[in-house]
Amino acid sequence: MCEATCGLELHLEGKDITLVRGDRDDVFSHGFLCPKGTALKQLESDPDRLRRPQVRRGDSWHEVSWDDAFAEVERGLTPIFERYGRDAGAMYMGNPNVHNLAGTLYSRVLIQAVGSKNLYSAGTVDQMPKQVSAGLMFGMALSMPIPDIDRTDYLLILGANPFASNGSLMTAPDYPGRLRALRARGGKFVVVDPRRSKTAEEADEHLFIRPGTDAQFLFGVVHTLFEEELVSLGTVADHVAGVEGVELLAGEFSPEAVAPVCGWPTLSPAISTAPAARCSRSPRPGAPTRLAPRASGAARVSVVIAAGCAAFPRCSASCRSCASPRRLRHRARVRCGA
Ligand code: SF4
Repeated sequence: MCEATCGLELHLEGKDITLVRGDRDDVFSHGFLCPKGTALKQLESDPDRLRRPQVRRGDSWHEVSWDDAFAEVERGLTPIFERYGRDAGAMYMGNPNVHNLAGTLYSRVLIQAVGSKNLYSAGTVDQMPKQVSAGLMFGMALSMPIPDIDRTDYLLILGANPFASNGSLMTAPDYPGRLRALRARGGKFVVVDPRRSKTAEEADEHLFIRPGTDAQFLFGVVHTLFEEELVSLGTVADHVAGVEGVELLAGEFSPEAVAPVCGWPTLSPAISTAPAARCSRSPRPGAPTRLAPRASGAARVSVVIAAGCAAFPRCSASCRSCASPRRLRHRARVRCGA
């Protein structure tokens, strides 16, 4: 039903489902199913499930044929479109219809037929900023970097619950097993989430964050990357513009400034006590970013960037001529040219 594409094992008696469980041989899921998947049997056999179109007349609902239902849609929508234009209509598409074969085939036709610019989805509810940033950075909204979890030593998870979602589009079967392997090689994972999710319960650290303050937290990370002089574009420099502007924007978001906004009295434990790590450049564009041990306190937060940015490494300029401890930002202002 979703992009995790878990494999199902269905046991049938005639057309009746007697058992639903995860397919252990499925390469995407290794037997994992979330509660939505395990509830398919109940969904299929629910006596209240709608199997035919319903039309409301007054306060009551009436089962009708598909022809009558389409005629009713035409009767209701056409005068609205004629009077107010196509944008008077809006469409919402979500799980499972965008992962359903018929939905995949026909939704584009339906969207074009309606002709409204107002299109909403599960994505616009919870992930559109990610798609917009991926589109701007990589050219396609779904070109999303994913953590190379099997070679990650420090995994910082913001607001995700892979123990329940199977990693979603990460498509990482046996996520708990992979996190156990991460720990076995000396790594750790930290969850930033206002909710005590299953993943948060299992984490080495769970940082409760005040809802709606993720942007401040992440800008604090960006601030720290510049402050610690960890930003270098390396081989992607020719493809990146505006880094100086980002640095200037991040200037006010020191960890000390954002911590109380996020609901932490001081620097978060992830920033102040966790084993250090830094984000190193990927061997090739788009490849997963690896983390390397480093002895600096604040640099470890760069793992957040590691999840969303394939290349944010150290500055390549040996700009020691500038006396400012924040010389990168200073350099951005004065263009010292060193
Ligand atoms: S995560 Fe849940 S909804 Fe998504 S494919 Fe797997 S079982 Fe289905």
